[in-house]
Amino acid sequence: MVLPEKFLEELEALLGEEQKAFLLEMEKEPRRGVRLNPLKCTEETLRRSLPFALAPSPFSPLSFYAEKGERFGALPAHHAGMFYSQEPSAASAVTALSPKPGERVLDLCAAPGGKSTQIAALLAGEGLLWSNEVVRGRADALLSNLERLGVRNSVVSCCQPQRLCEALQGWFHRVLVDAPCSGEGMFRRDPGALAAWSPEHVRACAQRQGLILDSAALAVKEGGVLVYSTCTFSRAENEEVCAGFLKAHPEFMWDPVPAFFGRPALDCPARRIFPMDGGEGHFVARFRRTGENPAKTAPFTQTLEGGERRLAEGLYGELFTGTCPSPLGTAGDRVLLLPQGLPALSGLPVLRAGVELARIKGRRLEPAHGVFASRKMEECRQAMDFSPADTALLAFLRGEETACPHKGYTALCVNGVVAGFGKASGGTLKNHYPKGLRLRS
Ligand code: SAM
Repeated sequence: MVLPEKFLEELEALLGEEQKAFLLEMEKEPRRGVRLNPLKCTEETLRRSLPFALAPSPFSPLSFYAEKGERFGALPAHHAGMFYSQEPSAASAVTALSPKPGERVLDLCAAPGGKSTQIAALLAGEGLLWSNEVVRGRADALLSNLERLGVRNSVVSCCQPQRLCEALQGWFHRVLVDAPCSGEGMFRRDPGALAAWSPEHVRACAQRQGLILDSAALAVKEGGVLVYSTCTFSRAENEEVCAGFLKAHPEFMWDPVPAFFGRPALDCPARRIFPMDGGEGHFVARFRRTGENPAKTAPFTQTLEGGERRLAEGLYGELFTGTCPSPLGTAGDRVLLLPQGLPALSGLPVLRAGVELARIKGRRLEPAHGVFASRKMEECRQAMDFSPADTALLAFLRGEETACPHKGYTALCVNGVVAGFGKASGGTLKNHYPKGLRLRS
């Protein structure tokens, strides 16, 4: 790999003699990893469902090193949302953010959803995750990953940070800015990052990062936490951006990142991760807001009531045991199971709130994939369970019809974890696995 001259100069200033160890690392294969999704399965079920071994990583108890070579996206365990494919050191930012069940958490630069799905895991279904992505094309991957991993309590928006943070001022206990950066920590994995690198690009990134942090500061409530992370080594995009932020925002102070991983950053209580530290490359800083910042949000009130609500509850009761979790709402032709504690959306470009229960087809409701993906097998009235190598399961994931002893809507599961559903009649299950998700043969 040929690295740019200017990059090497900066690296030498950062690492001195250790630069040699860095360059040796860069000749090796990039690390790969998987992150357990505890919303859908246990570590034991995940291990039993994968054709390779997992080794723990220092970056999060949910994050593991995995063997190379396998196409993770084609594995049935991936389809069932048991894990997120993520290089282990990328889990460090959410470890530092440390969200707790019941809190409101904003992930301001969220696509494709690696960190959002980790936040959702730590919220464990309680509280609210707001995932924002400014680039519309990238937001679709975010929506799809949150759905696959069965996240029930999230809102996805596609909005400029300033507009969103003004509307939700002072509302969040924790805010993550996993900023767009020059991606020096991606050089080994992504030739595009290497090709796009230049000193001018680094400067432009640093300027944009400062602006995103200015917006993010608005959204943090008094006493709340702001985490800033990048996957680059540049001092200008890391320590200097943090210093500029604290200078412009005396209402924030450093909140030291615990030393569970990586090494100290330069002259500040943040952490750096180099390839020699077991990850591809990350920087993580944490601040706490001391100044007051009263929220102005009102509660969401446009919930589904009356006959429409009873129709949706009827469908829920046909598919699942237990009472329908309220509240319910609609967006276009979709009926949604909304998260608890949703604020008034006041014209914000929200792409989805909660989980899709059904599509409205004339006067009836047709169940949606999202609600099955977010339920446990034990909650489904009818289910068929398969081992990951079962040919009937693979046929289902390819979109084919399958033999089924039940009648009506039936969940399809991998080692007890729901992957999708179909509608059975006459011994055959008509496939409802979404076309865009199907396994290619
Ligand atoms: N947090 C994500 C994850 O873990 O999967 C990765 C986020 S990536 C490092 C940064 C994101 O910021 C990209 O999705 C990019 O589209 C978005 N972005 C680009 N320009 C932005 C801007 N001006 N404001 C906010 N986000 C921006």
